Amino acid sequence: MKLNKNIETILGCDKEYDESNIVVFGVPFDSTASYRPGARFGSRTMRAESYNMETYSPYLELDLEEDTTVFDAGELELSIGNTQKALDSIYKFSKNILADNKLPFMLGGEHLVTLGAFQAAAEKYPDVHIIHFDAHADLRDEFLETALSHATVLRRCYDIVGDNRIFQFGIRSGEKAEIMWGREHVCTRMFDFNGLHNILDKLRDKPIYFTVDLDVLDPSVFPGTGTPEAGGVSFNELRIAMQAVSNMNIVGADMVELSPPCDLSGISTTTALKLMREFLLSLSQEMLH
Ligand code: MN
Ligand code: MN
Repeated sequence: MKLNKNIETILGCDKEYDESNIVVFGVPFDSTASYRPGARFGSRTMRAESYNMETYSPYLELDLEEDTTVFDAGELELSIGNTQKALDSIYKFSKNILADNKLPFMLGGEHLVTLGAFQAAAEKYPDVHIIHFDAHADLRDEFLETALSHATVLRRCYDIVGDNRIFQFGIRSGEKAEIMWGREHVCTRMFDFNGLHNILDKLRDKPIYFTVDLDVLDPSVFPGTGTPEAGGVSFNELRIAMQAVSNMNIVGADMVELSPPCDLSGISTTTALKLMREFLLSLSQEMLH
């Protein structure tokens, strides 16, 4: 695949495609948002705001420009009003990145976008497991009589891989039937990251797709999201948990549900960018070794 370089690259991620091992792309899609839309502006706003963020991490003592080879592919152009077509585009794009032996790192957009990228990852890695950070279980079979929704996305991923492949953390919202269904078919750790290290040890040799719904953060830290849910984790808890997951065999990853119209102070966008910087740096270190 040959891609043209985006001019406004995110967070100093300005390597050429051929020399990169991670490909960042934005997915401006929020058509199934059930409460407050706006996540379609998430990746674009992160890209614009990233000019105010240092590329150097004092936590890791690494710099995005020196210590990573990340290509920024810009924003996907998606079919507006046709959910399946939009998912097909995300799937094809992710599949091409994976075919070039690079790691797709997708910025949402609402959470349904994960389905397209995960489908591509599951095709290449049939043994793929999902690590899912979220306030919401996202395991409904249907939501508002729709099978494709950000409230059903993990259920649709389940349809691809089946039992015992999905590991959720931070969950604190869902309907009763959905939570009960989850107990039979997936592993859900409620409220926080307790038990994460045990599960990571068990999955050490497995290919992992990692999806982070940023509403796992407490709304006091991260108000800029369409479905805020009190009782979430802190920035440092999430940063450290994401760093732990970065040591796994990651084959695809995403960060979703930043909604700039809900982010009046801009603090959520900079928080998302900082998490992205830390994750890309620790992931790149892992991929080099
Ligand atoms: Mn979600
Ligand atoms: Mn959520």
